Amino acid sequence: MTVMGCIADDFTGATDLAGLLARSGARVNLRIGIPEGAPSETADFEVIALKCRTEPVAKAVAETRAALAWLKQTGAARFFWKYCSTFDSTAQGNIGPVAEALMADLGASQTIYCPAFPENGRSIFMGNLFVGEQPLAESPMKDHPLTPMRDSNLMRLLGSQVTRPVGLANRLVVDRGVAALQARLTALAAEGVAHVVVDAVSDADLTIIAQACADMVLMTGGSAVAMPLPAIYREMGLLGAQAAEDAHIKAPEGGALVLSGSCSAMTRAQVAAYLKQADGYRLDPLELAEAGAGPAMDWLRGKPVGAPKIIYATADPSSVAAAQDRLGVARAGKLVEDALAELAQVARDAGVRRFVVAGGETSGAVTKSLGVGKLSIGREIAPGVPWTYTRSGGHDIALTLKSGNFGAETFFADALEMLS
Ligand code: ADP
Repeated sequence: MTVMGCIADDFTGATDLAGLLARSGARVNLRIGIPEGAPSETADFEVIALKCRTEPVAKAVAETRAALAWLKQTGAARFFWKYCSTFDSTAQGNIGPVAEALMADLGASQTIYCPAFPENGRSIFMGNLFVGEQPLAESPMKDHPLTPMRDSNLMRLLGSQVTRPVGLANRLVVDRGVAALQARLTALAAEGVAHVVVDAVSDADLTIIAQACADMVLMTGGSAVAMPLPAIYREMGLLGAQAAEDAHIKAPEGGALVLSGSCSAMTRAQVAAYLKQADGYRLDPLELAEAGAGPAMDWLRGKPVGAPKIIYATADPSSVAAAQDRLGVARAGKLVEDALAELAQVARDAGVRRFVVAGGETSGAVTKSLGVGKLSIGREIAPGVPWTYTRSGGHDIALTLKSGNFGAETFFADALEMLS
């Protein structure tokens, strides 16, 4: 039976969470969107990937509530609402409203908020979120095109989103251990505090938090605070035997292809590094607008299926801005996403079975076009980026979905190397 049902606000965030949960050997299913029909072939942890990060509150609330209703049918008694470790939202953001709606549906009087991900440099101290050594509002996140983060204080950010009181369990409390943190949560509950931001600067803090909150009906946060949960649930006798690493999964044989629609700084470095060892085709939104994806398809069909290759729209900010000026932001993005999605299908039909995809939105477009529903989670390539295994067009395929800023510079080669 499923122990925990999880809802993630985007695709790469969902694979991030699923990957960290699977580190422990727990069985994890990742579902792209809310599955149709009743749950079947369920795992210890069921993760539903939504695409609601920047959706208006009412739409995000409706989608997450529908996801919760499906997850409840798995028999799960605990739930997790996963958002980004940089708390990507605005004053009109939906992280708080979604949590409040899920709490209402679950009859939960209190939940925690812990987006910390120390392994990736995200920590929380005295309610303030840091990216590396910089407060969130001084990090590059201050200029994010969709969710510019101009305040580092999670209590203030959350306070503007929710209707009930917000409080803090600070690092000094967490450092005193599980009982002290539980006592603090109880004291806050007695004051009517429904939303508790919890400080964490290390994995040890996250373990204390996960232990203190393991019986909460709803937890919210980044993926890292969920990572200790499988071991805790195993100790509580709630999980089955540990699966041997990749025991149920064999990487399918066949060609490999990297598809990159992310323009994040780390992805740009990764594309440049991979082009030193692979054939590359650069997609240009302006050319796509004129000539469509035909030339890229011809290029792909002309390459031996086994050759290392990458198709990328990844470009520096000035080229992106130039394309957006000519075509509009939405059209430029859609041309690229549609082309990569179509190319993924062509590649699969030509015998590619291993796909590395870079970009959150891009991952959404590619998984949709490949008709992917349920993914099994395999080994992690980098923190928060696992290989996943699924079926597409009657074939077994391996797929990894990397969000823009994750992974080392050699990520693409590392990922493919791991399967060989
Ligand atoms: P990340 O995870 O780095 O944010 P995403 O895939 O979520 O990456 O977002 C990148 C967006 O930029 C996508 O909508 C993609 O189609 C678009 N894009 C990619 N390359 C270009 C380009 N050269 N010009 C304009 N937009 C682009």
